[in-house]
Amino acid sequence: MRLPPIPTSEELLNKAFSRARKAASAARTSRIPSQKKAKTIEIIRIQTACNIIKDKLKLIIERTPDIESLPEFYQDYIDVTVGIDPLKKSLGAINWAAGIISQLEREYRRRITKSRPSLASSIRKEAYGRISSVIKKIGDDLDFLDFTRNKLKNMPTVDFDAFTVVIAGFPNVGKSTILRRLTGAKPKVAEYPFTTKGIQIGYLEMKWNKIQVIDTPGLLDRPIDEMNNIELKAMVALENLADIILFIFDASETCGYPMESQYNLFKDLKRIFRIPFICVFNKIDLIENIKYIKKYTIKVEDPILISALEDEGVSRLIKRLEGLHEKKARKTFQHAGKKKING
Ligand code: GDP
Repeated sequence: MRLPPIPTSEELLNKAFSRARKAASAARTSRIPSQKKAKTIEIIRIQTACNIIKDKLKLIIERTPDIESLPEFYQDYIDVTVGIDPLKKSLGAINWAAGIISQLEREYRRRITKSRPSLASSIRKEAYGRISSVIKKIGDDLDFLDFTRNKLKNMPTVDFDAFTVVIAGFPNVGKSTILRRLTGAKPKVAEYPFTTKGIQIGYLEMKWNKIQVIDTPGLLDRPIDEMNNIELKAMVALENLADIILFIFDASETCGYPMESQYNLFKDLKRIFRIPFICVFNKIDLIENIKYIKKYTIKVEDPILISALEDEGVSRLIKRLEGLHEKKARKTFQHAGKKKING
């Protein structure tokens, strides 16, 4: 999301008043009768200053996307990063200021028109004082919008139309190795406020379509009761985004987490996310006998055993993902068809 550049209140006032000064000096050399000139110059100054300010404030409002119309994932993202309520409040304040500036412009133009020429300058000064005080009042809001702008610049570019797989599992179970195996090239790393390591996004290209695969280091790799509020919110964001969770077990336990803890994490996540899971048992190249992990493979539905390192079983995993993607696409298609038939 891109917001327009946001000035500080001081920058905005300086720009407005200096432009006003320039506009007035042009009027000074014009051939307006001298009696009228004093009044005209002051009116031009007020109008120019107000216009500069109003244009800038309106631009900020117009160029800021309507938060409610953004995909839910982005709304969650904004809420966690800067907070939706403070953002709305600041935009409201900008809108308020734009309205007041319009009123002041009208009010002071009228007063100068009716005043004696000798009073025009002091009335304009009064107008400047009031304009300054309105803009200073929204100083914090401008600062906050500038902060928001910087924060949201790095929002990950996620494809909302793509079928999305989110990878979960303890650290070192092979999540990023699997992501690379599935999506070939080096995944894109985007900033994600919930984790220090960023979010990794790759695409599994198919004939007509693609599957988006996301790894969120530091997020779906820990028991839920250890998570703070922000991380829990991040989970909601992920649920809004994911079609499937790919849960990775390290069958060799070389990641340092016993199978029992891994299974508990899986159960934890399964309780939270109400979407389909695929269970992958990785690093089978390191285990001597599959029967050691049978206790767990029989507890989950259709487990897939792979070695991401040796590229064993990965094609089966890809087939499964493609199958689920197709199933969803068909459902969406049928749903759209029904809607059309039913009018
Ligand atoms: P992540 O922290 O879950 O993303 O795990 P990584 O993908 O970084 O993998 C952790 C370590 O396990 C790395 O040294 C990988 O090379 C290794 N690894 C990943 N998959 C396999 C596998 O199938 N077999 C073996 N032997 N090692 C693997």
